[in-house]
Amino acid sequence: MLTPAGRFAPSPSGDLHIGNVRTGVVAYLWARWSGRAFRWRTEDLDRVREGSGERQLEEFRGLGVRIDGDVVTQSHRTDLYASACDDLAGRGLVYECYCSRRDIQSAPSAPHAPPGAYPGTCRHLTEAQRGEARARLAAVGRAPALRLASDVREHTVEDTMLGSVTSHVDDFVLRRGDGVWAYNLAVVVDDADMGIDQVVRGDDLASSAPRQAHLCALLRLPVPEYVHVPLVLGPTGARLAKRDGAVTPAQLAVHGFDLWAWMGESLGFGPWRDIDDALMRFDPARMTHEAVVFDPPPLTAAG
Ligand code: GLU
Repeated sequence: MLTPAGRFAPSPSGDLHIGNVRTGVVAYLWARWSGRAFRWRTEDLDRVREGSGERQLEEFRGLGVRIDGDVVTQSHRTDLYASACDDLAGRGLVYECYCSRRDIQSAPSAPHAPPGAYPGTCRHLTEAQRGEARARLAAVGRAPALRLASDVREHTVEDTMLGSVTSHVDDFVLRRGDGVWAYNLAVVVDDADMGIDQVVRGDDLASSAPRQAHLCALLRLPVPEYVHVPLVLGPTGARLAKRDGAVTPAQLAVHGFDLWAWMGESLGFGPWRDIDDALMRFDPARMTHEAVVFDPPPLTAAG
């Protein structure tokens, strides 16, 4: 039996801003509060900036976060994703898709499907049509993507912060045309393999949870507890972003910013002194359900 665990799973696409850090810290506090281990996964299948995975980890270690077990790196685990996909394929649940993004945008959408959902164009092609489409892609140096042949229209999960979350489940991509394993497959396989039974992350990912839970069921994996927490917004009301100003802990340190105090305050607990204070005072029942706006100071040469 694996130890039940929570986790943080950042993509190493650059330095984390204080909104990302706050979410990771909440995941840690929530795991410890509920008696769980806390694990770390680097989601480097896509969008990697050299060295940023290591810096993200250092940032958290510097804050006093203790990580259990080995750090898991997705790019070392592609065999696991391939075997999960083979398992689905063996049950007739995977098909090749030859569509470009433009094909999908211009295809008429299926009834009751939200914009952008895959309309199923390649699901019922004959072998002859597949052969032709494969050759057409190969001629321009492309390969087909793999999609899940989904047998449901939508799926609902119970989220600890948000209550019931229902979203459309289309024939989503399992492996992209460029051979990269898709986020939804990798996340589900990894969480189960790492013993993660609690997923605390930003609520911008809440609408992905139903697809992921559906995939768990198809792969006969346990569905974790989902906890989607409010985001930190920038001055325009959109998700906080690097272009908003000084937003990373290092940039803000130059301005004398007290990260622990701000995290505690913005989550509804009043200022925290440090990680021990946060661990002592964290209580999910008292945590805010509202997003917070952060108006960053301007970025200067020093930070
Ligand atoms: N790697 C994703 C991100 O950085 C998070 C994935 C997850 O927590 O499920 O946005």
